[in-house]
Amino acid sequence: MDSSRYLVVEDSKFFNSIVSKAVGERVGAEVVSTLSLAEAIKAVTESELRFSLAVVDLVLPDAPNGEAVSWLQDQGIPCIVFTGVFSEDLRERLLAEHVLDYVVKETPSSLSYLVDLVGRLHRNRNIKVLVVDDSRTARGYAADLLKSYQFQVFEAESGEAGLGFLADNPDIRLVITDYNMPGMDGVEMVKRMRATHDQDRLAIIGVSSGGGNALSARFIKFGANDFINKPYLREEFFCRVMQNIRMLDMVERLTDMATKDALTGIHNRRFFFEAGETLFARAKRDQVALTAAMLDIDFFKKVNDTYGHDGGDAILKRVASLLRSLCRQTDVVARFGGEEFAILAVSMDDCALHPFFEKLRASLEAEEIIHAGHRIPVTASFGVCHGIGTSLESMLKTADEMLYQAKQNGRNRVEVA
Ligand code: GH3
Ligand code: MG
Ligand code: MG
Repeated sequence: MDSSRYLVVEDSKFFNSIVSKAVGERVGAEVVSTLSLAEAIKAVTESELRFSLAVVDLVLPDAPNGEAVSWLQDQGIPCIVFTGVFSEDLRERLLAEHVLDYVVKETPSSLSYLVDLVGRLHRNRNIKVLVVDDSRTARGYAADLLKSYQFQVFEAESGEAGLGFLADNPDIRLVITDYNMPGMDGVEMVKRMRATHDQDRLAIIGVSSGGGNALSARFIKFGANDFINKPYLREEFFCRVMQNIRMLDMVERLTDMATKDALTGIHNRRFFFEAGETLFARAKRDQVALTAAMLDIDFFKKVNDTYGHDGGDAILKRVASLLRSLCRQTDVVARFGGEEFAILAVSMDDCALHPFFEKLRASLEAEEIIHAGHRIPVTASFGVCHGIGTSLESMLKTADEMLYQAKQNGRNRVEVA
């Protein structure tokens, strides 16, 4: 279970239980359900742990005018408001209260919207965001908003500092930057960031007052994904940020779909060849040896026959994650299809070669895979080709011939060419 906690405040027992259950299932974290403001106050004040977020009904018997929202916001707990009624006045009021978002109860899609939103905010906890602005106030304001959206937020006070921070933290996914800063301006910083981080992996939103359309065009031209004029409405800031994060997610999902194997989550054959050709070309140029290995699980048909397809799938997943964990980050490990995997490793010493694959083989054999109460034994045969080959394909062909030999010689063994 996650350490974060969520609060639901809703007086309809029926609705409360639906929302609490759906939110809990989506985020896999604790949800505390309360039926009134009094109960919510009790839950918050008596709890040692903070609530990350609250989903609050605007109208409660002991808080008919949104007092629960005000109270929770005052405690620093970001709120998503659930309301049965909707009017422009209400919208204005809710936004003035600084709620994250509001959801109108009566529409059929409102529950799924709410749950998706909470899920999205929950995932934000793993996303690092950098705010670059020389004004402490402006920086703090944006940072606080982003924190309420659950992001991990970092701040830099100049373009130079922003670049430095990104270099040290390449896993930043979103940068919010001001334009006017002493030294390097925002546009120049974006331009430099783009030399190392493309738009699909790092979203950048430019923010500035003045400068007008020309400035937004310049920001976008030099690589920003989006632009917001200052002063901005919280609502607009929230929507833009979330939209950009959603875009990054979509690109990541598409990339995963194209390059990863759906069952095991490790790379697929297509990625193996894409990344492999690059590694091969570099190794060839530097005249260093490359190691290509093919492995195939032994008697896998029997596993399926004995334990069912589910049992077979469980083995494939475990083998994949074991291979991935035992190989180096820089090695390419892929599922080639069926129960066949391939590994491409750089800079492996001649003398480390045999022990390494022997370790893989032995680790697989020792792996305790329990499925439906049975330990499923698993072994694999390995064929390895090591050296400076003429092509990646020829190296794999040799590895495949060695694999055939390993099968011929009794399986559960390593043959090296
Ligand atoms: P050998 O030791 O000679 O490699 O024998 P084997 O039984 O492992 O080899 P064979 O190629 O005859 O059988 C492979 C089996 O792998 C057949 C197929 O049903 C199964 N298989 C292929 N893909 C999947 C999958 O995604 N999931 C499961 N559960 N089984 C799969
Ligand atoms: Mg097999
Ligand atoms: Mg096979």
